[in-house]
Amino acid sequence: MIVMGSAAIAAASLLQAWEQGERQHPLHRALALLQVAEPQTPVEALADLPIGERDRRLFSLRSRLFGPRVEAVAACPECGEMLDIAFDGRDVFGGDAGTPSGVRVIGGRELALRAASTVDLLEIAPLPVHERPAALLARCAGEPLDGPERDAAEAGLAELDPLSEVSFALRCEACGGAWSEIFDIAAFVWAEVGDRAQRLMREVHALARAYGWREADILSLSPRRRAAYLSLVAEG
Ligand SMILES: [Zn+2]
Repeated sequence: MIVMGSAAIAAASLLQAWEQGERQHPLHRALALLQVAEPQTPVEALADLPIGERDRRLFSLRSRLFGPRVEAVAACPECGEMLDIAFDGRDVFGGDAGTPSGVRVIGGRELALRAASTVDLLEIAPLPVHERPAALLARCAGEPLDGPERDAAEAGLAELDPLSEVSFALRCEACGGAWSEIFDIAAFVWAEVGDRAQRLMREVHALARAYGWREADILSLSPRRRAAYLSLVAEG
C-alpha cells in the first residue's frame, strides 16, 4: 500500500463512511469520503468547496488508500468496445485548482462568477435533468443567462474551476469512433471504497470466526498484521 499522507486511513472509518454513504445520494457519498480524510473539518465547509477542489482532495484520499495510478475502462458509445484508460492522477489532479471566483466581461458588462460547490449541486439535484445546467449557471452567475451570455459564463466557470470536469479524448481502435469521456473521480473512488469495504468485512468474518475477536479489534490491526493472521487461518 502506498501511503502519501501523514497517517494511514483507519479501516474502521473507511467502513463507516461506506456504510453511511451506501444509502445516500452520490453527492453525500463524496462528502462522506472527504470526512474520512479530514475528520476535523466541518461537513458544511467541505460542502462549500468548489467541485474542482473537492475532487483534488478526493484524489488525495484515493492516493493515500490505493496509490496515484488510476486504471479505468470506458465503453465506446458507437460499438460497445471496452477501452482501458490508465493515467497518473497526479498529472491530472496535481495541477492548478483554479480560483473559486472571478469577474468576467459577459455581454458587455462585468459579471461576478463563482465556482459551483456541492451545496449548489444538491440544490439543483431535485430538478429535471434538462433544467439543471441553466439552474446551476444562474446560481454561479447570480442571475439567469441565455444564448451567447450563457456560453460565455460557462466558459468563464470552466476557467475558474478547471478540475470541476475532467475528461479524456478517446478513440476506439475497433470502429474508429472518437468521443470525450468524463472521468468522475467521486464515483470512481466510491466504487473502489466499496470493494475495499467488502474485502474488510470478509477479513473480519474470517478472523472473528477463527479467533472470536471483536470487529473493532480486527479493524484496528495494521493491514500487515491482519494479512499475517489471515494466512495463518488459511493454513489451518
Ligand atoms: Zn467503437
